[in-house]
Amino acid sequence: MMATTHALIGVLLGSASLFVAPELAPVAVFAGLAGGVFPDFDLYSGHRKTLHFPVYYSIAATAALAGAMLVPNPWTFALGFFLFAAAAHSVSDAFGGGLELKPWLGQSERAVYSHFHGQWIPPRRWIRYDGAPEDFALGVALAVPSLVLYDGTIQTLVVLAVMISGVYALLRKPLVNIAEWLVGRIPSHMLAYVPDRFVGDFVQ
Ligand SMILES: [Zn+2]
Repeated sequence: MMATTHALIGVLLGSASLFVAPELAPVAVFAGLAGGVFPDFDLYSGHRKTLHFPVYYSIAATAALAGAMLVPNPWTFALGFFLFAAAAHSVSDAFGGGLELKPWLGQSERAVYSHFHGQWIPPRRWIRYDGAPEDFALGVALAVPSLVLYDGTIQTLVVLAVMISGVYALLRKPLVNIAEWLVGRIPSHMLAYVPDRFVGDFVQ
């Protein structure tokens, strides 16, 4: 799934706070958005492993949310919903495509790494690849409730996320060709700085 889809899931998860403490919803929504995006900061170093913890985030989120219900304040809500969204991101990566340059080919058996199990979880491919039409459609569906619930900054961010998703979905396959062209022109001593999945597919 696209990072923006994860962000929109995070916003929606943060919105659950409206049922318990509406005054803390803005904190929860921003924390959900941040937590939804956070795991993908490992894109260039051990992607879907270094910052992806499907089991541990889930355990931590359960504890943190329980704590937030007992002691509701901006800090406990921020932590709880950040971890909740990061857990949802890590788990939902298993429902997408595999870790490969052209995930629509369906050749990788690595979706997300479970540190708890000590192994890679295989992709279910419900969303075939990040930027797939169904990924964009999911993002739009996720955005609708948030657009109804919020105005101002949150609404703007949600609209922005949908627009970025649309552009990314349109460019998803052409982008790989551009990457292919670029990597073919990188001097060999610089290839150490290029993520393995690019180098592996193009150079070896
Ligand atoms: Zn991810």
